[in-house]
Amino acid sequence: MESRILHKIHKKLDTKGMDIHLKIDENKIAHLKGKTNNWEEVVEVGLLVGKNRRIKNVVNDLIPKDVEIIKMDKSNLINQGKNIGIIDEVDILIVGGGVIGCGIARELSKFNLNICLVEKEEDISEGTTKANNGMIHPGNAAMPFTLKAKLNVKGNAMYSDWAKELNFTFKRTGSLILANSKEEKKVLNLAYLAGRLNHVPEMRKISGKEAMKIETSIEEEPKLALWTPTTAYVDGYGVTIALAENAATNGVKFYLGTEVVDIIHNNEEVEAVVTNKGIIKAKYIINCAGVYGDDIAEMVGDKFYTIHPRKGGILIFDKSKAGVSRATGTPNTKGSKQSKGGGSQRTVEGNPLWGPSAREIMDKEDLSFTKEDLDYALSVGKKSNPHINKGDLITYFTGLRAADYKEDFIIEKSNKIKGFIHVSGIQSPGLAAAPAISEMVVEIIKKVEGGLKQNLNYNPIRKALIEFRNLSRDQQDRIIKNDSRYGNVICRCETITEGEIIEAINGSIPCTTVDGVKRRTRATMGRCQGGFCGPKILSILAREQNKDITQISQKGHGSYIILKKAREIDLGGESIGTDK
Ligand SMILES: Cc1cc2nc3c(=O)[nH]c(=O)nc-3n(C[C@H](O)[C@H](O)[C@H](O)COP(=O)(O)OP(=O)(O)OC[C@H]3O[C@@H](n4cnc5c(N)ncnc54)[C@H](O)[C@@H]3O)c2cc1C
Repeated sequence: MESRILHKIHKKLDTKGMDIHLKIDENKIAHLKGKTNNWEEVVEVGLLVGKNRRIKNVVNDLIPKDVEIIKMDKSNLINQGKNIGIIDEVDILIVGGGVIGCGIARELSKFNLNICLVEKEEDISEGTTKANNGMIHPGNAAMPFTLKAKLNVKGNAMYSDWAKELNFTFKRTGSLILANSKEEKKVLNLAYLAGRLNHVPEMRKISGKEAMKIETSIEEEPKLALWTPTTAYVDGYGVTIALAENAATNGVKFYLGTEVVDIIHNNEEVEAVVTNKGIIKAKYIINCAGVYGDDIAEMVGDKFYTIHPRKGGILIFDKSKAGVSRATGTPNTKGSKQSKGGGSQRTVEGNPLWGPSAREIMDKEDLSFTKEDLDYALSVGKKSNPHINKGDLITYFTGLRAADYKEDFIIEKSNKIKGFIHVSGIQSPGLAAAPAISEMVVEIIKKVEGGLKQNLNYNPIRKALIEFRNLSRDQQDRIIKNDSRYGNVICRCETITEGEIIEAINGSIPCTTVDGVKRRTRATMGRCQGGFCGPKILSILAREQNKDITQISQKGHGSYIILKKAREIDLGGESIGTDK
């Protein structure tokens, strides 16, 4: 099989200057080694190998010529953790506090188990979960017969219950693909076919006229449209914070700012994780580490896949701008086959959103936003929103898709090490599939354990924070009478009050950073992007946590905002952060 695959690679790609070595082991894992001319070729070769149906997955150690890969040396942190010693002992330890880790934590909290979640950042939802389109895809973009497709459609349907129980903002307003040219119709028909094969409910082809009735911002009648009413919209971080808060209420412990740097095992089963803050013994370790999933798997000697980050850049525009009110656009006929290619939509909070782009990158920490990302997102968005201009842009960001070379989710127990569970390769539509992924992981553990005892105190309901801006005048008056801090508007763009910020800081998951406040309340997310309210939020964070203002960071890891005070200002004992 090796020579046949290599032959195909040489036939399909210009392999001049490449030196590729391929070995396929008894478990059908392909191991690639050697040199290529650049990173794009590393990925292209990996994807070609992964395409072979008989290959289970690909460990791709090809490197571009003239590139030296330096692995981070974690030995200091390992020694630090080992010196601290055992800090906890649990049944289940989850690595990673994105939507997947938090979803699994909440699902497992329904059972009588001692669970903890370990997240290297200072807050949950600091990885890819904070930087995506927030679309609960219907399932017609996923390759038929993949795990992705199955869990996408199932997860989409489960979101209504999640939203009801967890009280996060959720809008099921559907999506439209529009087509005019022959190529666009071809892509639309492929999406329709995939949707049929994946059993996407209620999806149908409609006329351009009907599409214009559904989405009134369409100015020119398209020749054909595909309407998928089950598409929905959320904020990935909103969902994740709600999941984590509910999991915490149901007994899950959260170790934030805690990095898993090694895993102790005896070649048969897992024993403990070593973190920078000590050792945690665990019977099960669930790997939900996003782009670092392969590095965590390597810690137990079961790395049978490589995660290659695929970057996507997104643009967010001023809420007040007209434009599409749901994902609407012509299909991207030139987009890469591995990505849905992006388009334009409106976020669940009402901002026009364009993108994402899709670019293969080497570095798992590279979140730079380049001109290529900007140009791509502008080109796909402008088509459906001719009245929105560059000047209406309020922010931009990138996220990294955790792609493997089979382009599918990897959700299974380790065949090598008992107690280790892989939840890797969770690229898009990972957010949409999250409820179904969480359920699947619980089923894996139930099967190994022969069943799990219910947590009789489990409470599925999470109370949302007060959203002052969405209350009626009467409700606002009543709340202010009870607590005057709700009458002090801190973020004027989004109408976020001091009361809401304090509520967020004192939530069940510690919120210690400016970004943490932002994701829980929307403060700083408006037109001025924190230009006016940023300093006030800093003061409130310092006051509520009894810290000096110089100790408050944007997002942890030394991202301090005020390095040194030039002089003290006497606020006369008034509440710091008010307009007085
Ligand atoms: C541009 C873009 C747009 C997207 N749009 C959509 C969309 O519209 N709909 C959709 O369904 N999906 C979308 N996705 C995909 C979706 O965002 C992901 O599938 C999902 O967020 C993955 O969640 P996760 O929890 O697996 O990963 P992450 O959110 O990355 O979480 C992993 C966590 O693990 C932590 N971690 C890593 N290593 C360690 C360690 N050693 N110790 C402790 N913690 C560790 C990280 O800090 C991180 O918080 C998009 C992705 C991108 C990039």
